Amino acid sequence: MAKVLAIFLILLSSCTLFEWTIKEEKGGVWHTVNKGETLWRIARTYKVDIELIAKENGIEDPTKISVGQKIFIPGAKEVLKVEPFVAEKRLEFIWPLSGKLTSYFGKRISEFHKGIDIAANEGTKILASAEGVVTYSGFYGNYGNLIIITHQHDFSTVYAHNKENLVKVEDRVKQGDVIALLGNTGKSTGSHLHFEIRSKGRAKDPLGYLE
Ligand SMILES: [Zn+2]
Repeated sequence: MAKVLAIFLILLSSCTLFEWTIKEEKGGVWHTVNKGETLWRIARTYKVDIELIAKENGIEDPTKISVGQKIFIPGAKEVLKVEPFVAEKRLEFIWPLSGKLTSYFGKRISEFHKGIDIAANEGTKILASAEGVVTYSGFYGNYGNLIIITHQHDFSTVYAHNKENLVKVEDRVKQGDVIALLGNTGKSTGSHLHFEIRSKGRAKDPLGYLE
């Protein structure tokens, strides 16, 4: 019995080693996820594209990585220390819905994507990411049905392509309040939320603010 187990373990470990060797030959390091680290923070620390890391590791949902998970960082020369996520004391944001992250912040072929896209079923409730005041609620071109909430410290959040807006201008909303239903309005393919976080009017990568 012990012998069978030993053979099994050797097989198991050699398979793992084999995979590791192949990856390492391409150049890169294995990073072990520590508490408070997000894929976005890891990618930023190593200065490697988050989509590349997700693809290389077969990670479908970059918001669901776990402590102790080993992640291959292509192109990295050494393991680096990642600053853990600490919510900014002055303002905390939550995910406006849970769904599938289908598009990242950043440059696309011909344009710059100012937010992230989160796909889910039409009609899914969209929540206010932080407390604030509604400063726009209406139809706006490519954005379709759009809501903008203005927060403290010159932050604002943008929610686009909604099926229906449930708040109006000057409404006060608390974090987690339902503000809209997920839709496919404006320039959109499939029901999803286009979500932006802006600081002083400039779009920031929302993944830097979301745990
Ligand atoms: Zn988008």
